[in-house]
Amino acid sequence: MFRKVLIANRGEIACRIIQTCRRLGLISVAVYSEADRGSLHTLLADEAWPIGPAAPAESYLSIDRLLEAARQSGADAVHPGYGFLSEQADFARRLEEAGLVFVGPRPETIALMGSKREAKALMAQKGIPVVPGYDGTGTDLAAFEQAAARIGFPLLVKAVFGGGGRGMRLVRNPGELADALAGARREAESSFGDGALLLERYIEHPRHIEVQILGDQHGHQIHLFERECTLQRRYQKVWEEAPSSLVGTSARAELLEAALQAARAVDYRGAGTVEFVVGPEGDFYFLEMNTRLQVEHPVTETVTGLDLVALQFEIAAGRPLPIRQEEVRCEGHAIEVRLYAEDPARGFLPTAGPIDCFTLAPDLRVDQGFRAGDRLGTDYDALIAKLIVGGPDRAAALSRMREALARSWVGPLPTNLTLLAGLAAHPTVALGRVDTGFIADRLDELLAPQPVLPHHWAALVWSLLHPPGDGSSRPPWQSSDGFRVGGLAIRLFVEHGGEDRTLVVRPLEAGAWRLECDEGNYRVEGRIRDAETVMIGVEGEFHPVHLLRADDRIHIACRGIAQVFTLRTGPRAEGSGGADSFTAGCVSPFPGRILEIRVKPGAQVVAGEALMVLEGMKIEYTVKAQRAGRIGSLLCTVGEAVAMDQPLLVFEEDSPP
Ligand code: ADP
Ligand code: ADP
Ligand code: MG
Repeated sequence: MFRKVLIANRGEIACRIIQTCRRLGLISVAVYSEADRGSLHTLLADEAWPIGPAAPAESYLSIDRLLEAARQSGADAVHPGYGFLSEQADFARRLEEAGLVFVGPRPETIALMGSKREAKALMAQKGIPVVPGYDGTGTDLAAFEQAAARIGFPLLVKAVFGGGGRGMRLVRNPGELADALAGARREAESSFGDGALLLERYIEHPRHIEVQILGDQHGHQIHLFERECTLQRRYQKVWEEAPSSLVGTSARAELLEAALQAARAVDYRGAGTVEFVVGPEGDFYFLEMNTRLQVEHPVTETVTGLDLVALQFEIAAGRPLPIRQEEVRCEGHAIEVRLYAEDPARGFLPTAGPIDCFTLAPDLRVDQGFRAGDRLGTDYDALIAKLIVGGPDRAAALSRMREALARSWVGPLPTNLTLLAGLAAHPTVALGRVDTGFIADRLDELLAPQPVLPHHWAALVWSLLHPPGDGSSRPPWQSSDGFRVGGLAIRLFVEHGGEDRTLVVRPLEAGAWRLECDEGNYRVEGRIRDAETVMIGVEGEFHPVHLLRADDRIHIACRGIAQVFTLRTGPRAEGSGGADSFTAGCVSPFPGRILEIRVKPGAQVVAGEALMVLEGMKIEYTVKAQRAGRIGSLLCTVGEAVAMDQPLLVFEEDSPP
């Protein structure tokens, strides 16, 4: 085995590979562009080397810079991750020439499978079903038009050297063909440096199922079962599962065998993926082979218990596969979702900005490239993290995913978390009756706001009464700007889903409150269960609730539904109503007793400064200065009982001369 591995990548996949290096005792070398200075992968690795400016062509895609970093750091192997140079035969070749081990298949295999045209031709020759189409070797429009007429519509225009869903166009009728070809060609030229295109019949209501394969340098090839990656947006996977819940036993056996045949056809070495598109009748067709670690490999790791990166290292080091086909087990069910920095409300435009809050549910696997406090830029792709859950069966995994998504919150930059939660909650997803168009077809439903349960409102009230890190029952009046006290009731102003809401809370006996809101009146109470959860009771019915707070925003997850509330300082666009009257001077907001006086006559105070602490209504309340000024005289003493609206002190300028 080699000793030191350079990881020619960034983000979550670089972090993921570093984890395995650590486990195996390999020294990891990270590389970083100027845009990635200080990013997570550089901190996790044993060493980090700069490779140039932010532009990928000058850093992560620069073979020369990477070779130089490998040489200088003394690495003896290079793991390419996915994307970037992972499927560039030239990179593998140049590394080999420099005496370095490339963790991946041979350059010939990469080159061959990098061309969808050649890959399909080879697989067809081996008897593996491929989608009928046109290989696009005649480049003039007439040739494509003729072929299109023969194939029939709808059809797909694809970039021969494409990947990541780019350079693809769906053509529904002959009139659209010329434009689709021109658009795809432009995109292919700019993305892949080659405008070659092919045509394929579009399989209607398709599903995407792929098979993980492994091959060693001694002629052994095995599969690690299949993954279902049908939930896609713009030909890009969003949600992946293992195993597929959609294929029957005999179809699965055929599919796995076809994938093995494909692997054998190229004497495949390393980890690879054979992708198939599957029609509604279970008819399947080879799409392409990805000669690298796949983004969604963790679902396979979850159901097989294998570490794919470790297996890649063993294979690259020349060792025979450590497991035989019969020993590979597929147990339980796994689901992965891709958390992207993109805004569902604005057509999924990529977003960028600071990640102030990055809280992912604790009981799941998270492959992440960022942490709280990091800033997401626009130089690279928008994948923030992958969330992976496993369970004994699909229903269990799905319910864990729903819960995990509700309990995860990343912001303030917009992410696709709402879409993922929408998928996890959708009954059709639960039934598994989806095709690759599902997300596009049901977008409105998937992004529809989820209901706010009484438990959400109750938890909101509870969270304001029990700030984080405060084990006591001391109310957070200081921080809870949403509160106003009027008479015996407390008014709470929040914004939710663009709407302003007022809640009225009245204390009952210890630890219990009456909540009055538009939905009804409820008796609410809460008990801290552990560091993660509060049991919130509404009319005596308790459910676990997960609470997170960042500044004036409170994230509340209950029963698989996440809601975010923003605290308001008062009712918007309203004059100083009754609720606000107590703030006019320093008067007692409720009948109570003075616990503490923090200022002396003559003291200069600023607005918001704590003046005294009051006890009453089973809570403590800090009276704050409403404006800057000099304290005139105190009108109360510590321990004194005060009535509601009783003046507590006067400012000097308000004092009678
Ligand atoms: P996978 O086939 O592993 O599921 P995808 O289909 O999402 O992964 O993407 C295929 C490859 O293209 C990945 O290696 C990914 O890193 C890369 N890729 C996807 N989108 C982009 C992009 N916008 N820019 C650069 N590379 C991308
Ligand atoms: P890429 O290299 O960009 O990953 P693929 O050939 O793997 O391109 O196709 C990407 C996605 O497009 C597939 O996962 C599938 O959803 C869809 N797709 C590809 N070919 C077809 C087809 N012939 N019919 C229907 N859908 C297809
Ligand atoms: Mg693909």
